[in-house]
Amino acid sequence: MYEKKDKKTAEAKTGLTSLAELGEFGLIDRLTKNVKYYHPETLKGIGDDAAVMDAGDKVILFSTDLLVEGIHFDLTYMPLKHLGYKAAVVNISDIAAMNGIPKQMTFSLAVSSRFSAEALDELYTGVIMACEKYKVDLVGGDTSSNIKGLMISVSILGEAKKEEVCYRSGARSGDLLCVTGDLGSAYIGLLVLEREKSVFQVDPNMQPELTGFDYQIGRQLRPEARTDIRNLFIGTGISPTSMIDISDGLASEILHICKQSGVGCKLFEGKIPMDEHTRELAKEYKIIPSVAALSGGEDYELLFTVKQEDYEKIKDIAGISIIGHMTAPSEGKVMITPDGKSIPITAQGWDGMRIR
Ligand code: ADP
Ligand code: MG
Repeated sequence: MYEKKDKKTAEAKTGLTSLAELGEFGLIDRLTKNVKYYHPETLKGIGDDAAVMDAGDKVILFSTDLLVEGIHFDLTYMPLKHLGYKAAVVNISDIAAMNGIPKQMTFSLAVSSRFSAEALDELYTGVIMACEKYKVDLVGGDTSSNIKGLMISVSILGEAKKEEVCYRSGARSGDLLCVTGDLGSAYIGLLVLEREKSVFQVDPNMQPELTGFDYQIGRQLRPEARTDIRNLFIGTGISPTSMIDISDGLASEILHICKQSGVGCKLFEGKIPMDEHTRELAKEYKIIPSVAALSGGEDYELLFTVKQEDYEKIKDIAGISIIGHMTAPSEGKVMITPDGKSIPITAQGWDGMRIR
């Protein structure tokens, strides 16, 4: 309350709006509210994991991401090879989230003189490894010097058949809410890395203690994109009604689907898939385990909805969990705890992550 009042006072003084108050999505909405589309081929512009362009019997998908040193990655514990791999993967994931096939990528960097050519070789080894694994052609980019640090911008093209492409906006009341893999480990991996970094800063002779956290650290440093799920849908005859990738955390992504689809949602906390060791580690860090999944992010799993009639097809597939269902908008967006309490789903900041 007080914080809000203070912000308002600050605003009244300058007459300017702070970015902190708008938030990332508020800022995007504000900047893009006057955007017009001039080409009928642009089927979907701003607002999904990728833009969608009509190309006859198929659609072209297009997405871009910016990674800034100190904001998105910390080179104290992020090996450059992993960074290159991850930068490619997070873009590939956006194409997977549209139910598409990733095809071509551009990779651009702004780099300060702190970096050697050998260091950037490492970065590119990672990029090329990802391109090989996901069969993506690296077709261009741009290279610039930078005053400080490293900045990476990746853009990606993909394609899908018209009837396959899957938007955030297609969920309907009654649809089942499903997720691939397990959630929360990438965030716990980040906490382990941050902890070891602070130990290292206190005593540079200390070696980081990372053994026993391989899964969590791997999920943070070397995520994979779920391009395999598209084939699973084809093989089982399931058509997802909406889909998004989990980059910001389960709660935030659920809210995106609800907003764009105009539906509510009932999520069952006890159904959220998590690695057992990750649950234990979360408690050690005094975080409610499900909150690591809800607010942690960077797992790059896929969150999607299917029609209720697809229940039989999906219920026994290993590696897919049904975690809730969509409701009428009037029922709100809620999470049901194992003891039956109903909690509104909010895209929490870090403050909400602590066990009190
Ligand atoms: P994702 O997390 O999938 O990368 P974002 O949350 O970054 O997506 O972006 C949401 C939507 O807003 C996307 O359609 C993206 O292309 C668009 N967008 C983000 N930033 C800008 C911007 N500065 N100008 C125009 N569109 C933007
Ligand atoms: Mg996305």
